[in-house]
Amino acid sequence: MVASYKIIDHTYDAVVVGAGGSGLRATMGIAEAGLKTACITKVFPTRSHTVAAQGGIAASLGNNSPDHWSWHMYDTVKGSDWLGDQDAIEYLCREAPQAVYELEHAGVPFSRNEDGTIYQRPFGGHMQNMGEGPPVQRTCAAADRTGHAMLHALYQQSLKYDADFYVEYFALDLIMENGVCRGVIALCMEDGSIHRFRAHQVVLATGGYGRCYFSATSAHTCTGDGNAMVLRAGLPLQDMEFVQFHPTGIYGAGVLITEGARGEGGYLTNSEGERFMERYAPSAKDLASRDVVSRSMAMEMREGRGVGEHKDHIFLHLDHIDPKVLAERLPGITETGKIFAGVDLTRQALPVTPTVHYNMGGIPTNYHGEVVRLKDGDPDSIVPGLFAVGEAACVSVHGANRLGSNSLIDLVVFGRATGLRIKDQLKPGTPHNPLPKGSEEMALGRLDTFRHAAGSSPTAKLRVEMQRTMQKHCAVFRDSALLTEGVAQMEKIYAGLQDVSVKDRSLIWNTDLVETLELDNLMAQASVTIKAAENRKESRGAHMHEDFPERDDAGWMKHTLTTFDGWGGKGGGVAIDYRPVHDYTMTDDIDYIKPKKRVY
Ligand SMILES: Cc1cc2nc3c(=O)[nH]c(=O)nc-3n(C[C@H](O)[C@H](O)[C@H](O)COP(=O)(O)OP(=O)(O)OC[C@H]3O[C@@H](n4cnc5c(N)ncnc54)[C@H](O)[C@@H]3O)c2cc1C
Repeated sequence: MVASYKIIDHTYDAVVVGAGGSGLRATMGIAEAGLKTACITKVFPTRSHTVAAQGGIAASLGNNSPDHWSWHMYDTVKGSDWLGDQDAIEYLCREAPQAVYELEHAGVPFSRNEDGTIYQRPFGGHMQNMGEGPPVQRTCAAADRTGHAMLHALYQQSLKYDADFYVEYFALDLIMENGVCRGVIALCMEDGSIHRFRAHQVVLATGGYGRCYFSATSAHTCTGDGNAMVLRAGLPLQDMEFVQFHPTGIYGAGVLITEGARGEGGYLTNSEGERFMERYAPSAKDLASRDVVSRSMAMEMREGRGVGEHKDHIFLHLDHIDPKVLAERLPGITETGKIFAGVDLTRQALPVTPTVHYNMGGIPTNYHGEVVRLKDGDPDSIVPGLFAVGEAACVSVHGANRLGSNSLIDLVVFGRATGLRIKDQLKPGTPHNPLPKGSEEMALGRLDTFRHAAGSSPTAKLRVEMQRTMQKHCAVFRDSALLTEGVAQMEKIYAGLQDVSVKDRSLIWNTDLVETLELDNLMAQASVTIKAAENRKESRGAHMHEDFPERDDAGWMKHTLTTFDGWGGKGGGVAIDYRPVHDYTMTDDIDYIKPKKRVY
């Protein structure tokens, strides 16, 4: 029996959990439709990780070079290593220009060309002419602060349409009744009160879970809480083994240097001063897709051509670029280089290394943002009342590897699609049925357990064990021995949660308690990620399995679905299933793009 908590009830047409780019775009659209909308967020909206997005947002506007949505689609399918669903990718690329113009009208101060159109820069893997090349300039940017500009514009628009914001509220769990989502339970971190949000539609926009790893470009808040809530609801996550390493995290600090730096002409060298990407990707070179560049860097370091005393990093050169161009187009990273590496980019090379950056996997949805599950043999059946958008979701448009600047566009295209779908399905003020009795018990039971946890392992100790295990056993290169050992280690580390100690019993600003709830969420995701990786016996996109170095379309062109039942460190676990990749497009305007070998 759970200790009694005083619960404050709220009733909304729709509730969005998360106020990053995807959550705010969904909030804005739903509120604009006249629906009573709440947005719950554990950090202030403009502090969401989207704020850190530097490089930009992809759309085939064709302002700086010829472009077409079908070329964008081709590159995204190829980038995904044919694991992306092509109906969803078509939707993304067709809707992208409109979504960018809407951002422009919402107030995003994009960088401009002389003629006043939006400035677009090259980015890795984006080409002209259905992959034939040359590189295309497709990435729209507000200098190197694109995400920051987007969050401010979208937050203001959401306020304009009267969405209610619950800031510094930590969502604990979904309220589910017979497979239908009915709302969400949250803890107000400021005063320790418990809130029950009843809603016809719940949208999860809780971002990625980069913090499973030791070195990540993502914020400390990127703990994938929504993904874990979905697992606790008995629903699957999709393609979790695909974790993107960004080629240029600052060595030691993990802070990101945008791919836009290479887009503006930057290049990589090894200890011999060689521009080695010319060997690995003769045509795209430093602008090949991220998995390819990260692997090439790792190969150079392995073969003893890394730079520095330990030969464990690579140099990024921007010192040949006109300082005026750097100051105008990449002001933020010039500052970042100075602060985090003590390097003056106009004169010196920057030490970089591949760093965890993005989760291709997440909550499976269709291109309307509706959460799907594998039920009664139907891989596309829908979970009523539940949507997911942004990095938390797996639509899947990024498949096994995401192209740079394709996440920001994913946030707004599918954030918008979610708003449109909910507007179509829901009339403002539709009456609610009473919630099932005990709807809060799962959330509060878990809260209670951790709040009174009096073991001997501090949260921070367990967290670093998990992070080091994932970093070692589930990184750029993987093999069966590493993965099998990693799975066993993760099980042991997770069992350690039963002995966790939370010092303070209070619910008010108890960061130790919140971090423990987040750690529990992270551990579950780490467990399904490494288990799904162990199970996939091929190499595709970001999943490079050295015992199975080739892509195997006959055996493995399918999405992984993982469920989990080892909560609280009780062990047990991960169950794996698969669903087919969609082998069709949304309209007759374009044919299904057939698999080919992926070379850049
Ligand atoms: C350093 C960096 C640079 C990047 N640069 C680019 C780029 O240039 N172009 C590009 O396309 N992509 C880029 N990406 C990727 C892209 O920025 C992210 O994938 C994207 O911003 C994620 O947005 P989101 O809306 O899904 O989630 P986030 O922006 O991560 O927001 C998550 C939200 O969920 C809320 N939340 C989470 N858990 C809870 C909970 N339990 N209760 C309540 N609220 C919760 C948080 O408060 C937050 O508001 C970059 C990523 C990083 C890390």
